[in-house]
Amino acid sequence: MRRDFEYVVVGLGGLGSATAYWLARGFGEAVLGLEQFEIGHARGASQDHSRIGRLSYHTPAYVQLAGESYAAWAAVEKELESRLLVRTGGLDLWPLNAAIPMDDYTSSLSDQNIAYELLDAPEIMARWPAFVLEEGTTGLFQADAAIVPAAKCNAAHIRLARAHGAMLLDNSPVESITTRGGEIEVSVGSDVYRCRSLVIAADAWTNELTAPLGTKLPLTITQEQVTYFATPHVDEFAPERFPIWIWMDEPSFYGFPVYGEQGTKTGQDVGGEEVTATTRTFDPEPHALERVQSFLRKHIPRSLGPVIYTKTCLYTMPPDRDFVIDALPGHPNIFVAQGAAHAFKFASLIGKIMSDLASAGRSGHPIDGFKIDRPALIDPAAPKHFLV
Ligand SMILES: Cc1cc2nc3c(=O)[nH]c(=O)nc-3n(C[C@H](O)[C@H](O)[C@H](O)COP(=O)(O)OP(=O)(O)OC[C@H]3O[C@@H](n4cnc5c(N)ncnc54)[C@H](O)[C@@H]3O)c2cc1C
Repeated sequence: MRRDFEYVVVGLGGLGSATAYWLARGFGEAVLGLEQFEIGHARGASQDHSRIGRLSYHTPAYVQLAGESYAAWAAVEKELESRLLVRTGGLDLWPLNAAIPMDDYTSSLSDQNIAYELLDAPEIMARWPAFVLEEGTTGLFQADAAIVPAAKCNAAHIRLARAHGAMLLDNSPVESITTRGGEIEVSVGSDVYRCRSLVIAADAWTNELTAPLGTKLPLTITQEQVTYFATPHVDEFAPERFPIWIWMDEPSFYGFPVYGEQGTKTGQDVGGEEVTATTRTFDPEPHALERVQSFLRKHIPRSLGPVIYTKTCLYTMPPDRDFVIDALPGHPNIFVAQGAAHAFKFASLIGKIMSDLASAGRSGHPIDGFKIDRPALIDPAAPKHFLV
C-alpha cells in the first residue's frame, strides 16, 4: 500500500470530500483521503437529501462567498454533465420585532448588487397560499436559493476525486498527526502515511486532531434534528411551486419543499441540546418535534402530515458561528476547515479554497474573516452568538 502522498485530507464528509475532489483535479494520485467510518455515514453533519443554498446572508462577505459557491457547484456539474442544485427560490420571513435583524440581510444583498423582493404578508399569502402569516410579517424573496442535495453532492465529489486518481479510504480513523522534518506523518492503526500538506475537515471531531497539535478550538456541538412530514398536498409543495423558507426569529425554523422523500422537511436552527460526537444519540427529541409541529400548525398547516421520520445530525459551532479556514498555529502545512453548522452550501467552494491553501498557501476568495486566531476563538469570555 502506498504511504507517501503530497496531500492528505482527514474526514470525507461534505467539506472533506469536496477538498479531496478539488485537490485531485489538480494533483490526481498525489491525494489521499481518510474517513474513520464508512463513506456516506450518517454520524456527522453532511448526510441528508437536502441543504439550503442561498445568497441572502447577514454580511456582504458571506453574500459574495455564497455567489462564488454557486460557481464552484457549477464547475462540478459541468464535469458531472448533470445538474445537482435544484433552484426553488428562497423566502426569509421576519415577523414583527423579529430577533434577527432584517437590515443585515437587505443591506448585504444590496451591497453585492443581488436582486431580491420585499413582500408583505398579504403578498406572500397571495403568492404561496400555504403560508398563514400575521399582519406586519415581511418576506425577502431571493430567486437563486436552491436545494443543495447533500448526499448526491458528497457522492459526486467522491466519485470524481477517485476518477482523477485520488485514493480515498474509509474505516480509516486517523489516530495521530505528527510533523517530522517538514514532513507530516498520519497514523491509522499500524499504518503511517506521509505527506507535505494536510487538511483537517473533521467538524465535530476537530479538536481530537488539533488539540495534540497545540490548538483547541472553543466549539459547541449540538444534536439537531429535521423531520419529514407526509403532507397530503404534495403537489402544492413541489420544488417548482414552493420555496425554501427560513423564519428569522428566536426560535428560528427553516423548511424545504418536497424533495428526497414524499413529504416536506422542517427543522429548528440551533434547537438541540449540547452533546459531544460520542455522547450524541440518534433518538429524536420529542419536545423539539412538538416545537416544529406547533410552528407549522400556525404558519404552514398544509405542510404537515404523519411523520415519515426524524433525522438527527450534529451542529459544530465556534462562538461567533463563523467558519474556521486557516493553517494551524505553528503548523503552516496543516489546515483546518470548520463549517460552523452552515457550510454545506459552501462545501464545494470551501473544498476549492482548502485545495488552494494546501497547494499554494493562499486563496483568492474572501476568507480573512475565518482566521483561527481571531478574538472570538482566542478570548475565553467571547460571547456565543449562534443565531445569525
Ligand atoms: C440538521 C442540519 C441542517 C443543516 N442545514 C444546512 C443548510 O440548510 N445549509 C447549509 O449550508 N448547511 C447546513 N448545515 C450545516 C452543514 O451540513 C455542515 O456545516 C457541513 O455538512 C459540515 O461538513 P463537514 O464535512 O465539516 O462535517 P462532517 O460531514 O461531519 O464530516 C466530518 C468527517 O470527518 C470524519 N472524521 C472525524 N475525525 C476523523 C478521524 N480522526 N479520522 C478520519 N475521519 C475523521 C467524520 O467521520 C466525518 O465523516 C446543517 C447541518 C445540520 C446538522
